[in-house]
Amino acid sequence: MHDVAIIGAGPAGVAASIFLKRADFDIILFEKNMVGGLLHNANLVENYPGFPRGVKGYELCNLMNAQLSRWNIRPTKEEVNKINFENDGFVLTTKNSQDKFRCVILATGTMPKKLGLSGEVKLFGKSVFYEVKDLLPRIKPGDSCIVIGGSDAAFDYSLNLFEKQASVEVFYRSKKPKCLPLLLERVKKCSNINLHPSSIPLEIVYKNEKAEVSFKPNNKSEADFVLIACGREPNEELLSDGFKEKNISGFYIAGDVKTGKFRQTGIAVGEGIHAAMRIEEYLRGKKE
Ligand SMILES: Cc1cc2nc3c(=O)[nH]c(=O)nc-3n(C[C@H](O)[C@H](O)[C@H](O)COP(=O)(O)OP(=O)(O)OC[C@H]3O[C@@H](n4cnc5c(N)ncnc54)[C@H](O)[C@@H]3O)c2cc1C
Repeated sequence: MHDVAIIGAGPAGVAASIFLKRADFDIILFEKNMVGGLLHNANLVENYPGFPRGVKGYELCNLMNAQLSRWNIRPTKEEVNKINFENDGFVLTTKNSQDKFRCVILATGTMPKKLGLSGEVKLFGKSVFYEVKDLLPRIKPGDSCIVIGGSDAAFDYSLNLFEKQASVEVFYRSKKPKCLPLLLERVKKCSNINLHPSSIPLEIVYKNEKAEVSFKPNNKSEADFVLIACGREPNEELLSDGFKEKNISGFYIAGDVKTGKFRQTGIAVGEGIHAAMRIEEYLRGKKE
């Protein structure tokens, strides 16, 4: 039996893993996608201490990956599909393996909210996307993009697309966007980004190799790609059998999956370390 499984290698899972490895525990860090998690979408992280000029999201991810390597932590690139609690530990199931652990940290982050528009599901991955990191590799200079959403993420994504020389139309429901004023100012300075307030998306259709989105009250826009950034929700799929409520010893939740509302790198890192410290106390107590 291993000491600790950490599910998710975003900032929370990375911080927890490094803490536990330094404390000499036998850990496995599972990551189904890329080390750094949601940070791959961030254009410029300016509020995480230690980077006076800010740091590109992908660069911070690369640094986290390097720090894992420095501690000889090689993430297992697999999705955890199931957690079962059996009297003396947790059994984690992936497509290729089943392992048992004394403790688990769930650091699975969030999932994008879907709008439920007609055409949204059918066009997902072709011309509809929810995260800019999935879209950026496809963007060529001059491509057009519709961004739906008025939050920090929507405006951050628009800046990322602008840097790739795409033309961007941002549509949001409210009269004023809900993003940070400084993001709005930056977006306003970009010649190729246009803002469309008071626009409620109705449907997406694929026509002449473009995605066409209809908006209420009476507007239509077509583009090569549509990026939907209308909020996120905790990725709690693994908790379906009631782990959260049962408060089982040895099971901890850290980062965006826990806080839901207040999603920040610093909070995720802090919660990852907090969970790791509680595990250290718990496991050392058991050994004594
Ligand atoms: C556009 C944008 C800009 C941002 N800018 C900033 C900023 O400037 N400053 C700031 O502080 N924060 C910023 N954030 C927020 C920051 O990215 C998040 O708060 C942070 O990444 C949360 O870390 P986490 O580890 O909790 O979750 P995540 O980063 O979401 O990581 C969760 C990881 O778990 C993995 N995973 C999920 N389920 C499984 C499973 N079943 N098995 C294996 N792996 C799994 C995922 O693949 C993912 O890698 C930004 C976010 C966005 C979207």
